[in-house]
Amino acid sequence: MKDILNFIDGVYCEGNTGRWFDDINPCTGRTHARISEAGSEDVDRAVGAARRALSGPWSQMPQAERIGMIRAVADEIDRRFDTFLEAEVADTGKPHSLASVVDIPRGAANFRIFADIIANLSEHAFPMDTADGSGALNYTARRPKGVVAVISPWNLPLLLMTWKVAPALACGNTVVAKPSEETPATCTLLGDVMNAVGMPPGVFNVVHGFGPGSAGEALTHHPGIDAITFTGETRTGEAIMKAAAVGTRDISSELGGKNAALIFADCDIDAAIEGTVRSTFTNCGQVCLCTERIYVERPIFDEFVTRLKTEAEKLRPGAPSDGATGIGPLISAQHRDKVVGYLERAQSAGATVVTGGDTPAMDGEFAEGFWVRPTIWTGLSEESPLVKEEIFGPVCHIGPFDSEEEALQLANATDYGLAATLWTQNLGRAHKIAPRLEVGIVWVNTWNLRDLRTPFGGSKQSGIGREGGAYSLEFYSELSNICIKM
Ligand code: NAD
Repeated sequence: MKDILNFIDGVYCEGNTGRWFDDINPCTGRTHARISEAGSEDVDRAVGAARRALSGPWSQMPQAERIGMIRAVADEIDRRFDTFLEAEVADTGKPHSLASVVDIPRGAANFRIFADIIANLSEHAFPMDTADGSGALNYTARRPKGVVAVISPWNLPLLLMTWKVAPALACGNTVVAKPSEETPATCTLLGDVMNAVGMPPGVFNVVHGFGPGSAGEALTHHPGIDAITFTGETRTGEAIMKAAAVGTRDISSELGGKNAALIFADCDIDAAIEGTVRSTFTNCGQVCLCTERIYVERPIFDEFVTRLKTEAEKLRPGAPSDGATGIGPLISAQHRDKVVGYLERAQSAGATVVTGGDTPAMDGEFAEGFWVRPTIWTGLSEESPLVKEEIFGPVCHIGPFDSEEEALQLANATDYGLAATLWTQNLGRAHKIAPRLEVGIVWVNTWNLRDLRTPFGGSKQSGIGREGGAYSLEFYSELSNICIKM
């Protein structure tokens, strides 16, 4: 059995708690590694190492060298592609076909894009008149924020961790990372990568554990942390905001969603079906951007439901390495039980179960895995908790609409505001509706097409702030205005 250790000051180490917890493969339900839990003393050591690195070699390093090192991290992830892939798949159970084209390549790409952004960064200058006629020049300058805590979830472990570690390091900060307790492996492998490229010890640290009463809480409450960037559930985000309030530390949060897809009768229905299968069932519905509410214009409602059902039923669960596997398991027994709880409530809530609604019978080593069948409901009230709450599984509800205004009202009737997808061939309509959707990201005739230079984040209860490209600098660097009297 593999041991997964903390990474502090450039060295792998056991946590001082002496406690270990299981790393479970969601396909089999079996433990495949054990994880050393960090305690508050370990967090303190990690923050101390990060502070020393911040005022030491990392801050003294010329920018070109720092950027070169961040590019080298990307190259090193590419070189170790198979190791990262195996670790990610063992932790998440997701098919190779997904992890090998999304999770691992994006993990590397995140370092490249932020190296490029910083290398090409320009600042602003504001020449001004003064009463004595000599004038003055203002210009903006950026410096790192300090030691940044990065706390990430389990659904896209490497991708979401590096999405924050890369801009933090590129801006000259140092990092203490806490990956999800469910998926610690790839973040731990980053320690080796950092050492291989010559990153000074303490620039990047990893502590393992849970949230409350464990490494997560110790990290967010540590006074040596200057800013916290978090991806995860909205309720966790609220707890972290409270912790960040002490010392008025900055926070960036990417939280939950209950995303809508609006399917107009004038859409390319083949594309809309293909796109909605992806937006609903990718990663077994465990992507914050996944669609859980689908609204279809009435003339094509029946056709859409029938065709989505046919495509959903083609998604076969199975071995991650099998090219025919269309859907993986949920992340844990606990999450499976939560999703199954919603499935059980569906009928009494008035749903018609179009397909799915239960767990598949799996054979052999997969019999104890956390599988759930792709599920489509119709007929639920818009007030039903199944339509209101984020389920984070391979489930969706489809309802009809009759006008643009009604579609907009339905899409916006949620406490969340992360993403929405529009399917229409009428570009005028798309331009008219898209800006009125109360979300951070709108896709028209596609889903999850990401240019890493664009702003990413949510409105309402889906998060605070935007990250991505130069937008990330707002959080990961401190902006000063320097005014020089001539
Ligand atoms: P979670 O909130 O349970 O956990 C996320 C991380 O926070 C984990 O590392 C966990 O250990 C830590 N944590 C939990 N409580 C904490 C506390 N009190 N203090 C400090 N750390 C704490 O989320 P999850 O179940 O891992 O992930 C699924 C959720 O993430 C879904 O709601 C999903 O929508 C959301 N998500 C959002 C985005 C986005 O970009 N908006 C992306 C991916 C996932």
